[in-house]
Amino acid sequence: MPDLHANWNYPAAISLGISRIRTLPDACKQQGMQAPLLVTDPGLAALPFIQEIVGRCDAAGVRCTIFSGIKGNPTGQNVMDGVAAYHAGGHDGVIALGGGSALDAGKVVALMAGQQRPLWDFEDCGDNWQRVNEAGMAPVIAVPTTAGTGSEVGRASVITDTEQQRKRIIFHPKMMPAQVILDPKLTVSLSTKITAATGMDALSHNLEAYCAPFYHPMADGIAMEGMRLVKQYLPIAVAHGEDLEARTHMLTASMMGAAAFQKGLGGMHAIAHSLGALYDAHHGLLNAILMPYILKANQAAIEDRIVRLTGFLALDTNTFNGFMDWVLALRDQLGIPRNLSMIGIDTSQAERVGEMAVADPSASGNPVNFSAERYSAIFADAVNGKL
Ligand SMILES: [Zn+2]
Repeated sequence: MPDLHANWNYPAAISLGISRIRTLPDACKQQGMQAPLLVTDPGLAALPFIQEIVGRCDAAGVRCTIFSGIKGNPTGQNVMDGVAAYHAGGHDGVIALGGGSALDAGKVVALMAGQQRPLWDFEDCGDNWQRVNEAGMAPVIAVPTTAGTGSEVGRASVITDTEQQRKRIIFHPKMMPAQVILDPKLTVSLSTKITAATGMDALSHNLEAYCAPFYHPMADGIAMEGMRLVKQYLPIAVAHGEDLEARTHMLTASMMGAAAFQKGLGGMHAIAHSLGALYDAHHGLLNAILMPYILKANQAAIEDRIVRLTGFLALDTNTFNGFMDWVLALRDQLGIPRNLSMIGIDTSQAERVGEMAVADPSASGNPVNFSAERYSAIFADAVNGKL
C-alpha cells in the first residue's frame, strides 16, 4: 500500500492517515481546548473506541465529555440540547465526531454556543450569516467516521425544523472546522449498506457540483478527481470493508465532494432534503436512488459535460448513455435500491415534495430550472422506477 499520510491546509487544516485519531489530544491543545464537548450520535457513543478516545484525551489533560443526543436527521432541538450541555459542562470547544449528522450538529452547537438570537435566525438566506456574533463561535475539530458527507470541510449544516417539517441550512463562512482528522480506521467497521449509501452521497456531491451551471473550473477539477476516486475505490470499500487504502481514498473523495459543492448542488439534493425532512430517510441513500432520475431529467443541459467526464473516468462508452450505464451498474453492484418505493416511500405527498424541492437552496444549482410540477413528476418517476 502506498504511503497515504498527509497534512493539508486546503480547504482546511487536514491530518490524513491511519491511526491519526491519536493526534486528537494535541489538536485540542492547539485549538486552545482544555474541555471539549464531544458531539456524536448514540450508536457511536456506545462503542468502545469512543471511550478509548475520551481516555486518551483525559490522559493528556484534556477533559472531554460526550454529548450523543443526535438523531439521524439532526433537529433544532438536538442542537439546543447540545448547547445546553456545552454550557452546563463549562466547555471551550467542540469535537464533532461521526457521520454527517454528528458533524452537522456539532458545528451548529459550536456556532450557537455564544449567540443571543434563536437558531433559525441564522438560516442561509440573504445575509443572515452576518447576524452571527463571531466572537461567540467555539472552535471545532471534525472527525468523520463515514465517507460521504464531507461536512468536515463544509461551511454549513443541515438541520431539521420539526415544526415546519423541512430541512434548513445554517451557514457561516467561519463554520468550517479549524482542524480535520481523517483516519480510515474509523470507517472500517461501517456496514456495507452505510458504506455504499454514504459513498454514493460523496459521488452525488462531486457530480452535482460538476454539473452546476456556473463558471468554477477549480471546483470542476476537484469534482472530476473526486468522482474518479469513487469509481475506483467505492466498490472495493463496499466489498472489502477492511481495505484501508480504499477507505482512505473514500475519505478523501468525500472531502473533495464538499469542497467542490461550494459551487452548487442540484436536483438530487433538492429532493433528498425534502424527503429526509418528510420521511426521516437516510440522506446518502436518497441521493443514490435519485441520481439516475435527475441525470435523465437534466440530460439536454449536461450532455456535453458528461461526455467530457466519461473520457476522464475511462468509461467504455464516451456518451451520455455510457455514463448512465455506469451509474446504473454501480447502483446494482452496491446494492442500492432501484426506486424509492423499495424504501417505503410512495407518491401520496408528491405535490408537497415538488413544492419543497423547488424552494430548497440546492435547487439553484441544478442545470435546469425545474418547476415544482416538474420536481413532483421526477419524484414520482423515482418512486415508480420509471427511467
Ligand atoms: Zn449530500
